[in-house]
Amino acid sequence: MVNEKLVIIGSGPAAHTAAIYSGRAELSPLLFEGFMAGGVAAGGQLTTTNDVENFPGFPEGISGPLLMDKMREQSLRYGCRIVTKTISGIHINEKPFEPFVLNTADNEEYLADTIIIATGATAKTIELPNSATYWQKGISSCAVCDGALPIFRGKDLFVVGGGDSACEEALFLTKFAKMVYLVHRRNELRASKIMQRRVLGHDKIEVLWEHEITNVLGDEKVIKKVVLKKSEPSQVYEKAAGGLFFAIGHKPNTDFLGGKITLDKDGYIVTEKGSTKTNVLGIFAAGDVQDKKFRQAVTAAGTGCMAFMEAEEYLNTKDSK
Ligand code: FAD
Repeated sequence: MVNEKLVIIGSGPAAHTAAIYSGRAELSPLLFEGFMAGGVAAGGQLTTTNDVENFPGFPEGISGPLLMDKMREQSLRYGCRIVTKTISGIHINEKPFEPFVLNTADNEEYLADTIIIATGATAKTIELPNSATYWQKGISSCAVCDGALPIFRGKDLFVVGGGDSACEEALFLTKFAKMVYLVHRRNELRASKIMQRRVLGHDKIEVLWEHEITNVLGDEKVIKKVVLKKSEPSQVYEKAAGGLFFAIGHKPNTDFLGGKITLDKDGYIVTEKGSTKTNVLGIFAAGDVQDKKFRQAVTAAGTGCMAFMEAEEYLNTKDSK
């Protein structure tokens, strides 16, 4: 079995940035891009969005899938080898500087001196009867990413959720919306007191307490209405809508790590402050899999670069032992 110098797991901006840097540094990285890993196609979360307008270098904006194709092409150009397989487990040797063993979902084994985990996260959504028709035609799971797009401007927008993220997304959308409705199942928010105060005191936000969204309606091109269900007193009604944003959390793609890498209570990989180092010497983490705050393509790419630099430093230390 070939002992790889550097294995990168993932296929979003973090993984490809690490691949481009390490390819240029002649580390000949091997990247596992996954096969519908975490329910998302190789290329990661940006493959689920039409317009990316905030990634530098594309003044006219660029489609998410095209941006990811370009990153993949750039990784290949600088010598990265890409395998379309999902990693199902990592075996960590007790002795430092011993190679790690990686298992793929189809039972192959690979050895690696160092590993960068960039498996991202999957945004949670609610399955509605018409979700598939209107995904990215008015439905999104990222207000900060998509809220400024022309289709949402001056419209009534709905945010589903009740935590800090939902409040942040609702506040962000007030810049563009006619009115923002925060749809929450309970009669109190889970968000911090300060976020609650900001939301409840905002004249462009109305909280729809004890409500659920049960469907969206539109003209096939874009959503026009949401269908709401109120629990007390029980009532189902429609309301005009130009957008629906799910803000009910993300699931980091870390199940395959099997408890060997330290995770926080929400399943995100814990990295050292200002670094991509995990609790295991020689294993680094980059992108949304270790970031529940910023969650942007450009921040994921930034940590991908950091992970490469730290992995290279580790390899140099290993070689000098
Ligand atoms: P991800 O993009 O999460 O990709 C990781 C990928 O790795 C997975 O999807 C999967 O294919 C693969 N993988 C997972 N597990 C394994 C495994 N075990 N083995 C092998 N492969 C695996 N950000 C912006 O900056 N601008 C935007 O306009 C924008 N729009 C967005 C719109 C939507 C709808 C969403 C959901 C997100 C948007 N984002 C946007 C956020 C951005 O997509 C993420 O912050 C970014 O993609 C995170 O990159 P990442 O490299 O951490 O991994």
